[in-house]
Amino acid sequence: MRYISTRGRSPALSFEDVVLTGLASDGGLYVPETVPQFSREALAEMAGLSYAEIAFRVMKPFVNGEIDDETFRRLVTEAYATFSHDAVVPLNQLDANHFLLELFHGPTLAFKDVALQLLGRILDYFLKKRGERAVIMGATSGDTGSAAIEGCRHCDNLDIFILHPHNRVSEVQRRQMTSVLADNVFNIAIEGNFDDAQAMVKASFADQGFLDGTRLVAVNSINWARIMAQIVYYVAAGVALGAPHRKVSFCVPSANFGNVFAGFMAYRMGLPVERFVIATNANDILHRTLADNDFSKKELVATLAPSMDIVVSSNFERLLFEAYDRDGAAVAELLERFQAEPAALAEAPLSRLRERFASHSVDDATILEVIREAHHRTQEILDPHTATGYRAAERERCDESVPMITLATAHPAKFAEAVVKAGFPGVPLPPHMDDLLEREERYTVLPAELSAVQQFVAENRR
Ligand SMILES: *Cc1c(COP(=O)(O)O)cnc(C)c1O
Repeated sequence: MRYISTRGRSPALSFEDVVLTGLASDGGLYVPETVPQFSREALAEMAGLSYAEIAFRVMKPFVNGEIDDETFRRLVTEAYATFSHDAVVPLNQLDANHFLLELFHGPTLAFKDVALQLLGRILDYFLKKRGERAVIMGATSGDTGSAAIEGCRHCDNLDIFILHPHNRVSEVQRRQMTSVLADNVFNIAIEGNFDDAQAMVKASFADQGFLDGTRLVAVNSINWARIMAQIVYYVAAGVALGAPHRKVSFCVPSANFGNVFAGFMAYRMGLPVERFVIATNANDILHRTLADNDFSKKELVATLAPSMDIVVSSNFERLLFEAYDRDGAAVAELLERFQAEPAALAEAPLSRLRERFASHSVDDATILEVIREAHHRTQEILDPHTATGYRAAERERCDESVPMITLATAHPAKFAEAVVKAGFPGVPLPPHMDDLLEREERYTVLPAELSAVQQFVAENRR
Protein backbone atom coordinates (compact mmCIF):
# COMPACT_ATOMS: atom_id res chain seq x y z
CA MET A 1 0.00 0.00 0.00
CA ARG A 2 1.33 3.39 -1.02
CA TYR A 3 -0.13 6.85 -0.62
CA ILE A 4 -0.66 9.38 -3.40
CA SER A 5 -1.45 13.11 -3.44
CA THR A 6 -4.90 14.46 -4.34
CA ARG A 7 -3.17 16.89 -6.72
CA GLY A 8 -1.29 14.19 -8.55
CA ARG A 9 2.17 15.74 -8.70
CA SER A 10 3.99 14.49 -5.57
CA PRO A 11 5.74 11.12 -5.40
CA ALA A 12 3.91 8.21 -3.74
CA LEU A 13 4.93 7.54 -0.12
CA SER A 14 5.00 4.64 2.32
CA PHE A 15 2.78 4.62 5.43
CA GLU A 16 5.73 5.62 7.62
CA ASP A 17 6.57 8.62 5.44
CA VAL A 18 2.98 9.70 5.08
CA VAL A 19 2.50 9.77 8.86
CA LEU A 20 5.65 11.87 9.30
CA THR A 21 4.94 14.20 6.37
CA GLY A 22 1.52 15.88 6.58
CA LEU A 23 0.81 17.99 3.49
CA ALA A 24 2.13 16.79 0.11
CA SER A 25 4.73 18.99 -1.63
CA ASP A 26 2.26 19.80 -4.44
CA GLY A 27 -0.17 21.23 -1.86
CA GLY A 28 -2.42 18.15 -1.93
CA LEU A 29 -3.40 15.64 0.76
CA TYR A 30 -2.32 12.02 0.83
CA VAL A 31 -4.82 9.20 0.25
CA PRO A 32 -4.26 5.46 -0.13
CA GLU A 33 -3.49 4.42 -3.69
CA THR A 34 -6.03 1.62 -3.50
CA VAL A 35 -8.87 1.12 -1.01
CA PRO A 36 -8.65 -2.15 0.94
CA GLN A 37 -11.81 -4.26 0.68
CA PHE A 38 -13.64 -6.16 3.41
CA SER A 39 -15.83 -9.04 2.30
CA ARG A 40 -19.27 -9.54 3.88
CA GLU A 41 -17.79 -12.46 5.83
CA ALA A 42 -14.89 -10.39 7.16
CA LEU A 43 -17.33 -7.70 8.32
CA ALA A 44 -19.75 -10.21 9.84
CA GLU A 45 -16.89 -11.74 11.83
CA MET A 46 -16.19 -8.40 13.48
CA ALA A 47 -19.55 -8.23 15.25
CA GLY A 48 -18.94 -8.91 18.91
CA LEU A 49 -15.17 -8.36 18.87
CA SER A 50 -13.56 -5.82 21.20
CA TYR A 51 -13.04 -2.29 19.89
CA ALA A 52 -9.27 -2.76 19.93
CA GLU A 53 -9.53 -5.96 17.88
CA ILE A 54 -11.82 -4.31 15.29
CA ALA A 55 -9.38 -1.39 15.19
CA PHE A 56 -6.47 -3.73 14.52
CA ARG A 57 -8.30 -5.50 11.69
CA VAL A 58 -9.60 -2.32 10.01
CA MET A 59 -6.26 -0.47 10.11
CA LYS A 60 -3.89 -3.37 9.37
CA PRO A 61 -4.09 -3.03 5.54
CA PHE A 62 -3.21 0.68 5.74
CA VAL A 63 -0.21 0.05 7.99
CA ASN A 64 0.95 -2.43 5.41
CA GLY A 65 3.30 -4.41 7.64
CA GLU A 66 5.42 -1.32 8.38
CA ILE A 67 4.69 -1.90 12.06
CA ASP A 68 4.77 -5.60 12.98
CA ASP A 69 1.40 -7.06 14.00
CA GLU A 70 2.32 -7.67 17.61
CA THR A 71 3.56 -4.11 18.14
CA PHE A 72 0.64 -2.55 16.28
CA ARG A 73 -1.83 -4.55 18.34
CA ARG A 74 -0.10 -3.27 21.49
CA LEU A 75 -0.20 0.37 20.34
CA VAL A 76 -3.90 0.07 19.54
CA THR A 77 -4.69 -1.62 22.85
CA GLU A 78 -2.79 1.01 24.84
CA ALA A 79 -4.43 3.88 22.93
CA TYR A 80 -7.97 2.70 23.67
CA ALA A 81 -7.25 1.68 27.26
CA THR A 82 -7.14 5.44 28.00
CA PHE A 83 -10.91 5.67 27.38
CA SER A 84 -13.14 5.62 30.42
CA HIS A 85 -15.91 3.45 28.92
CA ASP A 86 -15.33 -0.30 28.46
CA ALA A 87 -16.93 -0.16 25.01
CA VAL A 88 -14.58 2.76 24.09
CA VAL A 89 -17.25 4.32 21.83
CA PRO A 90 -20.64 3.09 23.14
CA LEU A 91 -23.87 3.32 21.15
CA ASN A 92 -26.74 4.97 22.98
CA GLN A 93 -30.23 4.32 21.57
CA LEU A 94 -32.36 7.49 21.48
CA ASP A 95 -35.57 6.19 19.91
CA ALA A 96 -36.82 3.37 17.70
CA ASN A 97 -34.02 3.74 15.16
CA HIS A 98 -31.86 6.74 16.05
CA PHE A 99 -28.60 6.12 17.91
CA LEU A 100 -25.86 8.31 19.36
CA LEU A 101 -22.32 7.04 18.89
CA GLU A 102 -20.57 8.48 21.96
CA LEU A 103 -17.06 9.40 20.85
CA PHE A 104 -16.28 11.51 23.92
CA HIS A 105 -15.08 9.04 26.55
CA GLY A 106 -11.38 9.75 25.91
CA PRO A 107 -9.01 11.83 28.08
CA THR A 108 -10.15 15.24 26.74
CA LEU A 109 -13.86 14.51 26.21
CA ALA A 110 -14.01 15.01 22.44
CA PHE A 111 -13.75 12.63 19.48
CA LYS A 112 -10.28 13.87 18.52
CA ASP A 113 -8.88 11.59 21.24
CA VAL A 114 -9.78 8.54 19.16
CA ALA A 115 -7.24 9.50 16.51
CA LEU A 116 -4.66 11.38 18.57
CA GLN A 117 -4.19 8.71 21.24
CA LEU A 118 -3.09 6.40 18.45
CA LEU A 119 -1.20 8.93 16.32
CA GLY A 120 1.15 9.91 19.17
CA ARG A 121 2.05 6.27 19.71
CA ILE A 122 2.59 5.59 16.00
CA LEU A 123 4.83 8.65 15.62
CA ASP A 124 6.86 7.70 18.68
CA TYR A 125 7.31 4.16 17.33
CA PHE A 126 8.65 5.31 13.94
CA LEU A 127 10.90 7.99 15.48
CA LYS A 128 12.42 5.51 17.90
CA LYS A 129 13.04 3.07 15.06
CA ARG A 130 14.81 5.79 13.07
CA GLY A 131 16.74 7.12 16.07
CA GLU A 132 15.22 10.57 15.50
CA ARG A 133 13.37 13.13 17.54
CA ALA A 134 10.62 15.43 16.29
CA VAL A 135 8.83 18.58 17.32
CA ILE A 136 5.09 19.01 17.06
CA MET A 137 3.72 22.52 16.71
CA GLY A 138 0.06 23.41 16.57
CA ALA A 139 -2.29 26.31 17.14
CA THR A 140 -5.60 25.69 18.82
CA SER A 141 -8.75 27.48 19.79
CA GLY A 142 -10.09 24.36 21.41
CA ASP A 143 -10.26 20.59 21.10
CA THR A 144 -7.25 19.73 18.95
CA GLY A 145 -4.59 21.14 21.28
CA SER A 146 -5.63 19.26 24.38
CA ALA A 147 -6.17 16.00 22.48
CA ALA A 148 -2.73 16.31 20.86
CA ILE A 149 -1.08 17.02 24.24
CA GLU A 150 -2.78 14.02 25.85
CA GLY A 151 -1.77 11.89 22.87
CA CYS A 152 1.92 12.87 23.11
CA ARG A 153 2.58 13.32 26.83
CA HIS A 154 4.12 9.85 27.16
CA CYS A 155 6.10 9.93 23.89
CA ASP A 156 9.86 9.89 24.54
CA ASN A 157 10.84 11.07 21.07
CA LEU A 158 8.42 13.96 20.68
CA ASP A 159 8.25 17.47 22.13
CA ILE A 160 4.95 19.27 21.68
CA PHE A 161 4.37 23.04 21.57
CA ILE A 162 0.77 24.20 21.45
CA LEU A 163 -0.10 27.86 20.94
CA HIS A 164 -3.39 29.24 22.17
CA PRO A 165 -4.65 32.84 22.22
CA HIS A 166 -4.03 34.21 25.73
CA ASN A 167 -7.29 34.69 27.70
CA ARG A 168 -9.39 33.68 24.69
CA VAL A 169 -10.09 29.99 25.27
CA SER A 170 -12.54 28.72 27.85
CA GLU A 171 -11.18 27.83 31.28
CA VAL A 172 -11.95 24.12 30.88
CA GLN A 173 -10.23 24.00 27.50
CA ARG A 174 -7.18 25.92 28.76
CA ARG A 175 -6.80 23.78 31.85
CA GLN A 176 -7.08 20.57 29.84
CA MET A 177 -3.88 21.70 28.11
CA THR A 178 -1.98 23.58 30.81
CA SER A 179 -2.47 21.09 33.64
CA VAL A 180 -0.47 18.42 31.79
CA LEU A 181 2.90 18.86 33.52
CA ALA A 182 4.97 16.43 31.42
CA ASP A 183 8.55 17.40 30.48
CA ASN A 184 7.83 17.30 26.75
CA VAL A 185 4.67 19.45 26.82
CA PHE A 186 4.90 23.23 26.29
CA ASN A 187 1.88 25.50 26.28
CA ILE A 188 2.36 28.96 24.81
CA ALA A 189 -0.25 31.64 25.42
CA ILE A 190 0.07 34.15 22.61
CA GLU A 191 -0.77 37.79 23.23
CA GLY A 192 -2.96 37.88 20.15
CA ASN A 193 -5.87 36.02 18.57
CA PHE A 194 -6.18 32.53 17.11
CA ASP A 195 -5.26 33.72 13.61
CA ASP A 196 -1.98 35.17 14.92
CA ALA A 197 -1.15 31.83 16.54
CA GLN A 198 -2.11 29.91 13.41
CA ALA A 199 -0.02 32.20 11.20
CA MET A 200 3.08 31.62 13.34
CA VAL A 201 2.66 27.86 13.16
CA LYS A 202 2.23 28.01 9.37
CA ALA A 203 5.33 30.19 9.01
CA SER A 204 7.31 27.73 11.13
CA PHE A 205 6.31 24.81 8.89
CA ALA A 206 7.17 26.83 5.77
CA ASP A 207 10.69 27.63 7.02
CA GLN A 208 12.01 25.10 9.54
CA GLY A 209 15.58 26.47 9.72
CA PHE A 210 15.13 27.51 13.36
CA LEU A 211 15.07 23.81 14.33
CA ASP A 212 18.51 22.96 12.91
CA GLY A 213 17.31 19.91 11.04
CA THR A 214 14.91 18.46 13.62
CA ARG A 215 11.72 17.35 11.95
CA LEU A 216 8.53 19.35 12.50
CA VAL A 217 5.40 17.18 12.45
CA ALA A 218 1.75 18.22 11.97
CA VAL A 219 -0.98 16.47 13.88
CA ASN A 220 -3.95 18.28 12.32
CA SER A 221 -6.51 16.32 10.38
CA ILE A 222 -4.56 16.42 7.13
CA ASN A 223 -2.42 13.66 8.70
CA TRP A 224 -3.60 10.41 7.12
CA ALA A 225 -3.24 8.41 10.35
CA ARG A 226 -5.99 10.51 11.94
CA ILE A 227 -8.43 9.60 9.18
CA MET A 228 -7.38 5.96 9.39
CA ALA A 229 -8.10 5.74 13.13
CA GLN A 230 -11.55 7.26 12.62
CA ILE A 231 -12.63 4.69 10.02
CA VAL A 232 -12.74 2.14 12.83
CA TYR A 233 -15.73 3.46 14.75
CA TYR A 234 -17.91 3.59 11.63
CA VAL A 235 -17.21 -0.11 11.07
CA ALA A 236 -17.66 -0.96 14.77
CA ALA A 237 -21.00 0.87 15.00
CA GLY A 238 -22.18 -0.53 11.68
CA VAL A 239 -21.54 -4.16 12.55
CA ALA A 240 -23.01 -3.65 16.03
CA LEU A 241 -26.29 -2.63 14.35
CA GLY A 242 -26.44 -5.48 11.87
CA ALA A 243 -24.11 -4.65 8.98
CA PRO A 244 -23.29 -6.22 6.57
CA HIS A 245 -26.77 -7.80 6.67
CA ARG A 246 -28.45 -4.41 6.83
CA LYS A 247 -27.58 -0.86 5.92
CA VAL A 248 -26.92 1.99 8.31
CA SER A 249 -26.77 5.78 7.94
CA PHE A 250 -24.52 8.26 9.74
CA CYS A 251 -24.93 11.90 10.65
CA VAL A 252 -21.67 13.76 11.32
CA PRO A 253 -21.20 17.24 12.87
CA SER A 254 -18.56 18.53 10.46
CA ALA A 255 -15.93 21.21 10.02
CA ASN A 256 -12.67 20.19 8.34
CA PHE A 257 -14.41 17.05 7.00
CA GLY A 258 -11.87 14.58 8.43
CA ASN A 259 -14.48 12.74 10.44
CA VAL A 260 -17.07 12.25 7.70
CA PHE A 261 -14.36 11.42 5.15
CA ALA A 262 -13.31 8.54 7.41
CA GLY A 263 -16.93 7.33 7.23
CA PHE A 264 -16.81 7.50 3.46
CA MET A 265 -13.66 5.35 3.52
CA ALA A 266 -15.51 2.76 5.64
CA TYR A 267 -18.22 2.73 2.97
CA ARG A 268 -15.68 2.32 0.18
CA MET A 269 -14.12 -0.57 2.10
CA GLY A 270 -17.40 -2.46 2.04
CA LEU A 271 -19.58 -1.20 4.90
CA PRO A 272 -23.13 -0.84 3.53
CA VAL A 273 -24.05 2.82 4.18
CA GLU A 274 -27.32 4.26 2.93
CA ARG A 275 -26.30 7.91 3.36
CA PHE A 276 -24.09 10.32 5.20
CA VAL A 277 -25.74 13.44 6.57
CA ILE A 278 -23.30 16.33 7.00
CA ALA A 279 -24.29 18.71 9.80
CA THR A 280 -22.78 22.20 9.89
CA ASN A 281 -23.24 25.23 12.10
CA ALA A 282 -23.59 28.72 10.58
CA ASN A 283 -20.17 28.16 8.94
CA ASP A 284 -21.89 26.24 6.19
CA ILE A 285 -19.53 25.87 3.24
CA LEU A 286 -20.15 22.11 3.09
CA HIS A 287 -23.93 22.57 3.08
CA ARG A 288 -23.83 25.37 0.49
CA THR A 289 -21.61 23.28 -1.77
CA LEU A 290 -23.83 20.20 -1.65
CA ALA A 291 -27.19 21.96 -1.70
CA ASP A 292 -26.51 24.90 -4.05
CA ASN A 293 -23.16 24.10 -5.66
CA ASP A 294 -21.86 27.28 -4.01
CA PHE A 295 -18.23 26.34 -3.33
CA SER A 296 -17.06 29.67 -1.92
CA LYS A 297 -15.56 31.16 1.21
CA LYS A 298 -17.71 33.19 3.56
CA GLU A 299 -16.63 35.22 6.58
CA LEU A 300 -16.06 33.24 9.79
CA VAL A 301 -18.93 33.32 12.30
CA ALA A 302 -18.22 32.60 16.00
CA THR A 303 -20.90 30.09 17.07
CA LEU A 304 -21.95 28.07 20.11
CA ALA A 305 -20.27 25.06 18.47
CA PRO A 306 -16.76 26.58 18.22
CA SER A 307 -14.94 23.41 17.15
CA MET A 308 -16.93 23.59 13.91
CA ASP A 309 -16.07 27.23 13.18
CA ILE A 310 -14.16 27.12 9.89
CA VAL A 311 -14.06 28.98 6.57
CA VAL A 312 -12.57 26.17 4.46
CA SER A 313 -12.93 22.39 5.00
CA SER A 314 -9.44 21.10 4.31
CA ASN A 315 -10.30 17.41 4.05
CA PHE A 316 -13.11 18.02 1.54
CA GLU A 317 -10.30 17.86 -1.02
CA ARG A 318 -10.00 14.13 -0.32
CA LEU A 319 -13.65 13.60 -1.22
CA LEU A 320 -13.35 15.81 -4.31
CA PHE A 321 -10.49 13.58 -5.47
CA GLU A 322 -12.88 10.61 -5.40
CA ALA A 323 -15.76 12.56 -6.95
CA TYR A 324 -13.47 13.65 -9.81
CA ASP A 325 -12.48 10.02 -10.43
CA ARG A 326 -9.03 10.59 -8.92
CA ASP A 327 -8.11 13.21 -11.52
CA GLY A 328 -5.45 15.16 -9.56
CA ALA A 329 -5.11 17.85 -12.25
CA ALA A 330 -8.86 18.61 -12.15
CA VAL A 331 -8.79 18.79 -8.33
CA ALA A 332 -5.76 21.13 -8.38
CA GLU A 333 -7.46 23.36 -10.96
CA LEU A 334 -10.71 23.53 -8.94
CA LEU A 335 -8.94 24.33 -5.67
CA GLU A 336 -6.73 26.99 -7.19
CA ARG A 337 -9.85 28.67 -8.60
CA PHE A 338 -11.60 28.32 -5.22
CA GLN A 339 -8.72 30.08 -3.43
CA ALA A 340 -9.12 33.08 -5.73
CA GLU A 341 -12.89 33.36 -6.28
CA PRO A 342 -16.25 31.63 -5.70
CA ALA A 343 -16.18 28.29 -7.52
CA ALA A 344 -18.57 25.48 -8.45
CA LEU A 345 -18.19 21.74 -8.92
CA ALA A 346 -18.66 20.14 -12.33
CA GLU A 347 -22.05 18.47 -12.87
CA ALA A 348 -20.98 14.81 -12.84
CA PRO A 349 -18.90 14.88 -9.62
CA LEU A 350 -21.60 16.89 -7.85
CA SER A 351 -24.34 14.42 -8.71
CA ARG A 352 -22.09 11.56 -7.65
CA LEU A 353 -21.68 13.22 -4.23
CA ARG A 354 -25.41 13.83 -3.90
CA GLU A 355 -26.11 10.11 -4.28
CA ARG A 356 -24.45 9.41 -0.93
CA PHE A 357 -24.37 12.72 0.98
CA ALA A 358 -27.07 15.01 2.33
CA SER A 359 -26.48 18.12 4.43
CA HIS A 360 -28.14 20.50 6.83
CA SER A 361 -26.99 23.73 8.50
CA VAL A 362 -28.02 24.70 12.04
CA ASP A 363 -27.74 28.24 13.48
CA ASP A 364 -27.12 29.15 17.15
CA ALA A 365 -30.77 29.74 18.05
CA THR A 366 -31.61 26.31 16.68
CA ILE A 367 -28.73 24.70 18.61
CA LEU A 368 -30.29 25.93 21.87
CA GLU A 369 -33.74 24.79 20.78
CA VAL A 370 -32.38 21.33 19.88
CA ILE A 371 -30.60 20.90 23.24
CA ARG A 372 -33.96 21.52 24.98
CA GLU A 373 -35.97 19.41 22.53
CA ALA A 374 -33.58 16.44 22.64
CA HIS A 375 -33.58 16.53 26.43
CA HIS A 376 -37.37 16.62 26.52
CA ARG A 377 -37.63 13.65 24.15
CA THR A 378 -34.70 11.50 25.29
CA GLN A 379 -33.42 12.79 28.68
CA GLU A 380 -29.99 13.32 27.10
CA ILE A 381 -28.13 16.62 27.33
CA LEU A 382 -26.31 17.08 24.04
CA ASP A 383 -23.24 19.22 23.55
CA PRO A 384 -23.76 22.00 20.96
CA HIS A 385 -21.82 20.18 18.21
CA THR A 386 -23.79 16.99 18.66
CA ALA A 387 -26.97 19.11 18.69
CA THR A 388 -26.32 20.18 15.09
CA GLY A 389 -26.06 16.49 14.23
CA TYR A 390 -29.26 15.55 16.05
CA ARG A 391 -31.26 18.15 14.11
CA ALA A 392 -29.65 17.31 10.76
CA ALA A 393 -30.30 13.59 11.30
CA GLU A 394 -33.97 14.18 12.10
CA ARG A 395 -34.44 16.43 9.04
CA GLU A 396 -32.51 14.37 6.51
CA ARG A 397 -33.55 10.81 7.35
CA CYS A 398 -34.94 9.28 4.19
CA ASP A 399 -35.74 5.66 5.11
CA GLU A 400 -37.02 5.19 8.68
CA SER A 401 -36.15 1.49 8.63
CA VAL A 402 -32.41 2.21 8.27
CA PRO A 403 -30.72 2.88 11.62
CA MET A 404 -29.46 6.47 11.86
CA ILE A 405 -26.25 6.86 13.87
CA THR A 406 -25.46 10.43 14.94
CA LEU A 407 -21.87 10.96 16.03
CA ALA A 408 -21.68 12.60 19.48
CA THR A 409 -18.40 14.47 19.05
CA ALA A 410 -18.02 16.07 22.50
CA HIS A 411 -19.16 15.65 26.10
CA PRO A 412 -21.64 18.37 27.15
CA ALA A 413 -19.51 19.32 30.20
CA LYS A 414 -16.84 20.55 27.82
CA PHE A 415 -19.21 23.11 26.28
CA ALA A 416 -21.19 24.10 29.33
CA GLU A 417 -21.78 27.66 28.09
CA ALA A 418 -24.27 26.50 25.45
CA VAL A 419 -25.91 24.07 27.83
CA VAL A 420 -26.45 26.83 30.40
CA LYS A 421 -27.76 29.17 27.69
CA ALA A 422 -30.26 26.48 26.77
CA GLY A 423 -31.63 26.73 30.30
CA PHE A 424 -29.91 23.87 32.14
CA PRO A 425 -27.94 24.29 35.36
CA GLY A 426 -24.80 22.89 33.68
CA VAL A 427 -23.24 19.46 33.44
CA PRO A 428 -20.64 18.14 35.91
CA LEU A 429 -17.27 17.01 34.58
CA PRO A 430 -16.86 13.23 34.67
CA PRO A 431 -15.26 11.80 37.86
CA HIS A 432 -11.71 11.46 36.44
CA MET A 433 -11.69 15.23 35.79
CA ASP A 434 -13.66 16.66 38.64
CA ASP A 435 -10.58 18.31 40.18
CA LEU A 436 -9.57 19.98 36.87
CA LEU A 437 -10.24 23.49 38.17
CA GLU A 438 -7.87 22.95 41.13
CA ARG A 439 -4.96 21.38 39.24
CA GLU A 440 -1.62 23.17 38.90
CA GLU A 441 -1.15 24.87 35.52
CA ARG A 442 1.97 25.59 33.50
CA TYR A 443 2.20 27.87 30.47
CA THR A 444 4.36 30.64 29.04
CA VAL A 445 2.94 33.93 27.80
CA LEU A 446 4.73 35.23 24.70
CA PRO A 447 4.15 38.23 22.41
CA ALA A 448 2.67 37.52 18.97
CA GLU A 449 6.11 37.62 17.36
CA LEU A 450 7.42 34.78 15.26
CA SER A 451 11.02 35.17 16.43
CA ALA A 452 10.03 34.99 20.12
CA VAL A 453 8.01 31.82 19.54
CA GLN A 454 10.66 30.13 17.43
CA GLN A 455 13.38 30.99 19.94
CA PHE A 456 11.28 29.48 22.73
CA VAL A 457 10.73 26.28 20.75
CA ALA A 458 14.38 25.97 19.75
CA GLU A 459 15.60 26.47 23.31
CA ASN A 460 13.12 24.20 25.07
CA ARG A 461 12.97 21.14 22.82
CA ARG A 462 14.88 18.31 24.41
C1 LIG B 1 -13.09 18.84 15.52
C2 LIG B 1 -14.53 18.75 15.93
C3 LIG B 1 -15.58 18.65 14.98
C4 LIG B 1 -15.32 18.70 13.48
O1 LIG B 1 -14.68 17.56 12.98
P1 LIG B 1 -14.03 17.54 11.52
O2 LIG B 1 -13.32 16.25 11.42
O3 LIG B 1 -13.12 18.74 11.45
O4 LIG B 1 -15.14 17.65 10.52
C5 LIG B 1 -16.87 18.49 15.45
N1 LIG B 1 -17.14 18.45 16.78
C6 LIG B 1 -16.18 18.56 17.71
C7 LIG B 1 -16.55 18.53 19.14
C8 LIG B 1 -14.84 18.70 17.34
O5 LIG B 1 -13.87 18.81 18.26
